[in-house]
Amino acid sequence: MSTALRLGGVSKNFGAVKAVEKLDLSLEKGAILSLLGPSGCGKTTVLRLIAGFESPDEGAIEIDGLTVFAPGLNLPPEKRRAGMVFQDYALFPHLDVYKNTAFGLTGKEERKKARIGEVLSLVGLIGLEHRMPHQLSGGQQQRLALARAIAPGPGVMLLDEPFSNLDTQLRVQIRGEIRDILKRSGASAVFVTHDRDEAFFMGDRVSVMSGGRLEQTGTPYELFHRPDTRFVAEFLGTADFIPCSLRDSLAETEIGPLQAPNHREAGEGLHILTRPDDVIVRESSSGGNGAVASLSFLGTNYIYSVRLDSGTVVHAFGPHDKVLARGVRVKAAFDPHYRPVIFKDEIRMKS
Ligand code: ATP
Repeated sequence: MSTALRLGGVSKNFGAVKAVEKLDLSLEKGAILSLLGPSGCGKTTVLRLIAGFESPDEGAIEIDGLTVFAPGLNLPPEKRRAGMVFQDYALFPHLDVYKNTAFGLTGKEERKKARIGEVLSLVGLIGLEHRMPHQLSGGQQQRLALARAIAPGPGVMLLDEPFSNLDTQLRVQIRGEIRDILKRSGASAVFVTHDRDEAFFMGDRVSVMSGGRLEQTGTPYELFHRPDTRFVAEFLGTADFIPCSLRDSLAETEIGPLQAPNHREAGEGLHILTRPDDVIVRESSSGGNGAVASLSFLGTNYIYSVRLDSGTVVHAFGPHDKVLARGVRVKAAFDPHYRPVIFKDEIRMKS
């Protein structure tokens, strides 16, 4: 599979701030990579380094087989074949839909016209060629921004929080449309967001960043259920860490034992990572191992926070038609389908 984008050992400091540190990334052609992380972790800086609006302090960047940055080489943005879609769309307010789309195109008028037709059809804006940006809905403006970036056939598309100006309902609709357009056009794209659901929805793979560093890259499933670090586990949703000890191929915990055949290494600081769907709670007036500390109704089910007798807190889902009140004694146990994910200190033990 050929590569649309490759970053090797890319770093960028702003004074004392290490915005990006020794970043390695690669993107296969036709794939979408979501870059996810909390505010200030360096996501936008990565896009700006790829696009050429900032220069790395070190490292190398390659777009569609062409080295655009390396020691002694720094191509300007217009030579990098990167199509950028910004948070605020950055459409030209004085140009209509047709002329906005034509902006980055060169060559003969006839070919340009054909390409614009192709791209406007792809984004569903045929018939609106002569509208001005202010005469378009938020969603249409978004699709126009995408059309303009796609039109020159860039080697990589860079999208920086493109849905942040849309209200929640529209966001969900538009993200589906945008993903569909990117996939139909065969584009390779990096999509920046701080929203987990958006990152999971848009990305074939997701890279999680923290403090300028890459924590982990994987499919949404891998990241959620096999996080490499405690940061990734906690950033992606409710995560509990139950102390455990390993003996032979058995992991022993307060809510029961688990077979852990590939984890023979004993030691201190071991924990089992659970998500709320990995734990089952049942009312148990005698012989329970904890009590309901709090609960929250999620519509389709309840989520319980259970304080185990040791003081460790675990979360568990329960059915919507049977509620366990605060203070009720319960027995928490592993879901029979749960496969153990064991952490030693901050890092997942590889099986
Ligand atoms: P957000 O989600 O809030 O947009 P981000 O993950 O995109 O954040 P960046 O905008 O890349 O983060 O910023 C990374 C770090 O670099 C931050 O500490 C930021 O303050 C700093 N930074 C970014 N651009 C500059 C600049 N031009 N000058 C100085 N510091 C900067």
